[in-house]
Amino acid sequence: MKQKNWILLLGIGSIIILISVQVFIIRGVWKQKDEMFDLRYKTLSQEALVQLDKLKNTNGLDTALFIVNSYADTVMNKDIYYIRNEKDLENKKKEIFLDIYKILVREQDLSQYLSEYFQSQGFEKDFNIQIVINYLQLINFDTRLDIYQSPEYQKSKTTKSTQAIYIPPKLKSRILVNRFFCEDNYYRLYFDYYIDFSNKNRIILRDTATSLVMSTLSIIVVVIIFLVTYRNLMEEKRLSNLNADFIHNMTHELKTPLSTITVAGKTLEMEQIRANDDKILETAKLISKQSVHLNQLINLILEISMWERTQFQLDRKKVDIEDLLNDIVESFRNGCGNSARFIQNYKLKGITADIDMVYFTTMINNLLANAVKYSDKDPEVTVVGFKEKNNIVIKVADNGIGIPRSEQKHICDKFYRVTTGNIHKTKGLGLGLYYVKRIAESHGGDVSVSSKPGKGSIFTISIPY
Ligand code: ADP
Repeated sequence: MKQKNWILLLGIGSIIILISVQVFIIRGVWKQKDEMFDLRYKTLSQEALVQLDKLKNTNGLDTALFIVNSYADTVMNKDIYYIRNEKDLENKKKEIFLDIYKILVREQDLSQYLSEYFQSQGFEKDFNIQIVINYLQLINFDTRLDIYQSPEYQKSKTTKSTQAIYIPPKLKSRILVNRFFCEDNYYRLYFDYYIDFSNKNRIILRDTATSLVMSTLSIIVVVIIFLVTYRNLMEEKRLSNLNADFIHNMTHELKTPLSTITVAGKTLEMEQIRANDDKILETAKLISKQSVHLNQLINLILEISMWERTQFQLDRKKVDIEDLLNDIVESFRNGCGNSARFIQNYKLKGITADIDMVYFTTMINNLLANAVKYSDKDPEVTVVGFKEKNNIVIKVADNGIGIPRSEQKHICDKFYRVTTGNIHKTKGLGLGLYYVKRIAESHGGDVSVSSKPGKGSIFTISIPY
């Protein structure tokens, strides 16, 4: 696998580990807060019960239990005599259970006392209550009527158990306030009294918000740092690859004229050649042509290093752009562009701009050369010029091979050459467009490209005038 993928995988792996650790820590903190919440309200409830007993001598259930007792009295001394069979009895038991359950829920005052106490202590006052009956028996002087026993109570009792009648759904975060064991003349009743805060999660969230925000922020920071580092690393790698490509291309370019000169030199050593003046002249011309080419290449290398070290020193002059464009295209057509068809269309009559003629000419020449070079059919190059707001816009369009979208943002980078296909098929060092960009920018303008593979490219230069 490529090193790039390893770094990416390693980074993503570390981020996943970091997120897991943070989630684990937050879950721990949450659980702890949740337990503390329950403990706090459990303690508060106990305190409230003690105070209620001390100050008011009640447990908050007096009214409810009084009503339960009278209800049980009616059942045991009246209703029970109308029951004829087992089925009637079972139905009656269900009815009794539900009635007593409702009396307890409706008539108890405990929740109001608790709410007031919580508020007086500066805590949440709104909660729901839940009552769970564990044991219910109605009694008379001579009879006992078992209504309900939860499994917990059945174990210790021998009496026949009654089917579960109504057990409210267990609330997930309920807090047990107390287990009540109550007896009076006509009943025996054991039940649990719970409170439940529907907004408990919101309260805990509020308490843990700081740690939550901190850990989310730390994750975001780590992800950003990773992405920036990864991007820089990849950019450095890309640049070092480009440099290596440049050296490779340059060596290739230098070797061609050198080997031609070497072969020509060897040819001149041959006697039969030396005897033929025409051959000597031909070989000498070849050597001088290749030497000129070699010289041009070396000059180019010197020029590159000079361009790198110094800022452009523009020698600006007022120039008629339309005339200049005509001249450039004309001399290009007569030089290396004779294989191409040129179409020109300018709307710049009388417009002059402050430009450096030499650099401007290099810039347009580079675009024309590429338009011809990167073509797989008869090259057709269109050059148009017009003004737009305060800018002179020059477009060089071709019908060549085009540039894939993913490559377009890089093509003006130093040494960059499109990687598809064999780059040695078309000679170049990846500097032409880099210079185009630098020259356009040094004139206060810019360059852009739009292109479709197989359809051609349009380079647009815009320079203020
Ligand atoms: P060079 O031509 O020396 O490779 P350039 O900087 O001039 O370097 O161009 C960079 C790359 O952009 C080229 O290698 C080529 O792939 C692509 N390119 C430039 N101009 C064109 C064009 N008119 N049509 C298609 N591709 C182009």
